[in-house]
Amino acid sequence: MSHSTGPYLFCPLCGNPLQKSIIDDQLRSTCPNCFYVHWGNFSLGVGGVLWHNDKVLLVQRGHNPGKGMWTIPGGYVDQGESIGKAISREIQEETGINSKPLAIIGLRDQPAEKHDTYIIFLMQFQGGNLQAQPEEVSDLGFFTLNECSALPIPSLTLSALKASQSVSQGLGLNSDVKLSSTLSTLYHIH
Ligand SMILES: [Zn+2]
Repeated sequence: MSHSTGPYLFCPLCGNPLQKSIIDDQLRSTCPNCFYVHWGNFSLGVGGVLWHNDKVLLVQRGHNPGKGMWTIPGGYVDQGESIGKAISREIQEETGINSKPLAIIGLRDQPAEKHDTYIIFLMQFQGGNLQAQPEEVSDLGFFTLNECSALPIPSLTLSALKASQSVSQGLGLNSDVKLSSTLSTLYHIH
């Protein structure tokens, strides 16, 4: 089974028609002109569990998929953006709340046609006022666990809320280790 041949007919770098070649035991779209290889379609998403005064921040989705469902805020990571910056930005944009990441507490892997990985953070409240992003969020608020049980919440969000209350600290940022790239950050267990 191969999802890696990709949707491109022409090289995104030089415009030459792509051809199929076996590279690393997989049939892949490659460019005979500039040697571009289409390795696959990947996307990276982030979500954040943010507690404040024993209530958790949830947003109601304004669009499908899942229109009307209540989830933790989040979104996709921009090219060149760290995952920690991405979740703080997404929460600020969607809800008006400022926060910083404390730990990674979950990861959902979805190796579909577009391989989609979603990293769940525990966040620390840092102020701000609730203000919904009108394009994406139809309603929002802080809820107790009891109040959450009365809302339509997907199982992934429920499990994230549960994980956020675990005694385990999850994966924390470690800035003591010198990594070969200055762009890199390291999360590990404590
Ligand atoms: Zn090319």
